[in-house]
Amino acid sequence: MEKLDSYKVDLKGMSEGTVSYSWHVEDNFFSAVQGPEIQQGQLDVALRVKRMAGAYELVFQLEGTVKVLCDRCLDWMDCPISAEHVLRAKLGDEYADDGDLIIVPEDDGLLNVAWNIYEFAALEIPLRHVHAEGTCSQQMTDAIASLSSAGEEEKPVDPRWSALEKLRRKSEE
Ligand SMILES: [Zn+2]
Repeated sequence: MEKLDSYKVDLKGMSEGTVSYSWHVEDNFFSAVQGPEIQQGQLDVALRVKRMAGAYELVFQLEGTVKVLCDRCLDWMDCPISAEHVLRAKLGDEYADDGDLIIVPEDDGLLNVAWNIYEFAALEIPLRHVHAEGTCSQQMTDAIASLSSAGEEEKPVDPRWSALEKLRRKSEE
């Protein structure tokens, strides 16, 4: 399993100015992060860290595709990811993250951004994600159709049989 150490950003060690990072993440990244929404995918991630007056601005850019299950046929589909997200960070006493600002413990000074990258990708997955019309897996669609129609298979009663049934009842009266 991939170690996520290579996603550590050295905030304390950088001087004023900008430092750039880039990563190419693949399936082993997603299995190491163990997030619920994405297990497979390929992303190019670029990060620009800017230090100004004791605070840090981190600009992430993500480009690529991740695999998710289609809501209609339940087969895998590619979900394109193209996103930019900004994080702010500061050095402080203890770790804290209010969603907007991350406080990174000063004695360590390192911020591991693996989970942030994962979250930014997961945010890009639309609530409803389906294959383009007509491109769903036929095999999966057939399997689902046969499952959902099982139990509704009662044929309408043949009118001749109901006529016979009436006769039979009459004769029994
Ligand atoms: Zn589908």
